[in-house]
Amino acid sequence: MAVYNTPFDAANTAVRSFLTSVGEHYWGRKFTTASGAGQTAWKEICADFGGACAYCETTDGPMQIEHLVMFNRTEYGLHHPGNIVPVCKACNKRCKDDTKCFVGWRDHLARVCTGLPPSVAAARQARIEQHIVKFSYPNLSPQERHAIRVIAESLYENVKTEVVKSLALYEKLDEAFVDRTA
Ligand SMILES: [Zn+2]
Repeated sequence: MAVYNTPFDAANTAVRSFLTSVGEHYWGRKFTTASGAGQTAWKEICADFGGACAYCETTDGPMQIEHLVMFNRTEYGLHHPGNIVPVCKACNKRCKDDTKCFVGWRDHLARVCTGLPPSVAAARQARIEQHIVKFSYPNLSPQERHAIRVIAESLYENVKTEVVKSLALYEKLDEAFVDRTA
């Protein structure tokens, strides 16, 4: 747990809050996996995957929430039941490609399934795709995805700027009101 937060942390939190709000807008209700309808949905999703990791099928350890379309400024995935699956701790670390960019969930799954028969990998991918359809993850148009990206980038820059400006304002006020000669 971080004990302090940088302007970047604040900006990233604001972006995730926005992506959560948009996800809830499409789902039509609040989506916290810790209580209420969100918790019920999360339990149902875990049961759909047999209590196992959606990528490697291990049942070891508590399952974590994986956003298929990443819940960040890389992919702008929404916090929505159709975008979350249970995965083990090891699989929750998304692979990167040769250019150090995170890969999409299908490529990540393919890497997790390295060495397994292609039919096994295909079955796991099909099950995840069924999950996306079952929970009606919105099939966003390129224009909608673009709009989400533009708004999220603006929010990120504004929050970061506000934190930096707040310090500048404090320094200015501190200079004006504090008598350093006392
Ligand atoms: Zn796994």
